[in-house]
Amino acid sequence: MKKYIMQFLYKTIISKIFTPFLDVNIKPIELKIKQIDKCLLIAPHPDDESIGCGGILSLYPDNFKVVCLTYGNDKSIRKVEMQKAMATSNIHYQLFDLNDKKINKGFKLFKNIDISNYDIIFIPYILDQHKDHKSISLLLYKLLQVGKYKKNLKIAFYEVWSTINMPNYYVDISSVISKKLEKINSHSSQIATKNYG
Ligand SMILES: [Zn+2]
Repeated sequence: MKKYIMQFLYKTIISKIFTPFLDVNIKPIELKIKQIDKCLLIAPHPDDESIGCGGILSLYPDNFKVVCLTYGNDKSIRKVEMQKAMATSNIHYQLFDLNDKKINKGFKLFKNIDISNYDIIFIPYILDQHKDHKSISLLLYKLLQVGKYKKNLKIAFYEVWSTINMPNYYVDISSVISKKLEKINSHSSQIATKNYG
């Protein structure tokens, strides 16, 4: 039953919202970022960027800008941890101050993200079980209605809490696995109770 529900959601929500921005590959193919590609990674909380995309950020640090939408549960601690994680590969990043657990209500701030210059935007999987994570899909959808973006813009979903059921791209991060772990471990308050390694 679940499978049918997933297929229904995929056919309706995802295809309506994002198909123009997605490549559909039956068999996942390796994603290679070109030197000229500009990538924006949107993270709901400090740590999602490292857990979900610490590998690709370590492989291509100069191509990425990271926008993190909230400070999570503790502004002073999470801000320092984010800074530490991004410093491991000198990644350009920006922290927004949306309300934790209410990201879906934050379009007023979200719409200030300038998406006009990017080739690929990375966001958490649209069916992630965390409310803040999945709400980014709808916020981005709204922004695409009003904001300027490149004609060939692609949207990429990354995994944090929930497995992507039909992945169509993968990134080989074996050469940078220690760098990814370094990023995750920078968020020490978050790994105290969960093992993301
Ligand atoms: Zn999160």
